[in-house]
Amino acid sequence: MAKKVKAVVIKGNNVKEKDKNILLFSLEEGKIWATLKGVRGDKAKLKYAKEPFCFGEFLLEEGKGSLVVTSVDILESFNELSQDVEKYFEGNALLEIVNTLSFESVNESYLVFVNLIKALKILAFHKTSECAVLLKFLLDIFEIYGIKLYSEKCTCCGAPFHDHIYLNYNVGELVCLQCQTFQSEEISKGEYAILKILSTNSYNKLPTIKYSNEIGLCLLKKLRKNFYQRFDKSLKFIGIIS
Ligand SMILES: [Zn+2]
Repeated sequence: MAKKVKAVVIKGNNVKEKDKNILLFSLEEGKIWATLKGVRGDKAKLKYAKEPFCFGEFLLEEGKGSLVVTSVDILESFNELSQDVEKYFEGNALLEIVNTLSFESVNESYLVFVNLIKALKILAFHKTSECAVLLKFLLDIFEIYGIKLYSEKCTCCGAPFHDHIYLNYNVGELVCLQCQTFQSEEISKGEYAILKILSTNSYNKLPTIKYSNEIGLCLLKKLRKNFYQRFDKSLKFIGIIS
């Protein structure tokens, strides 16, 4: 029986001479693998649908042991991401995150999907500060999974933050100087300001948010470590963090 899903291509593997298996992240069913037949030739009808970032409506039919893509209505190719190396690496990092996540509920998967589309649109069509889209996406992921990172007060004792703020990797929350443990790392004032502005604004506001590249990257390293502590998955972020 054929089914139609709205999905983004996360990655693909070449199979046989001209086929490609693609991992789709769909609104309706989360992540699913499907095969594109004869798609690697220049004249292939569905050749654009095999590229990562491609967002479309995929018609899938049961084949021999796998789902086969029989047609695609491309909603947004996000081709712009392949034409700017920095955007490309940041976009790849978004897909890398989705690739590592597993979904325990339809709601989780739905929220991640909606955020991914918003993130890709801002990344492809706007200019933002260093990794702003990626940082925001990570913060959203923590929140969707019930481990929101940003807080106005110490999550341990409830006191307002003064000079020193720490990220406690053990629980993935912000704590004060008195409550920090050996598993905590200090968050600078600049990093905290970025955390706050990205956590309290929508994707549409990202192009108006300005901060230093260096501080953005420092924060990204900490969020990546926090992701590893929460999900037990390491993220490479190729081209962004060496
Ligand atoms: Zn405290």
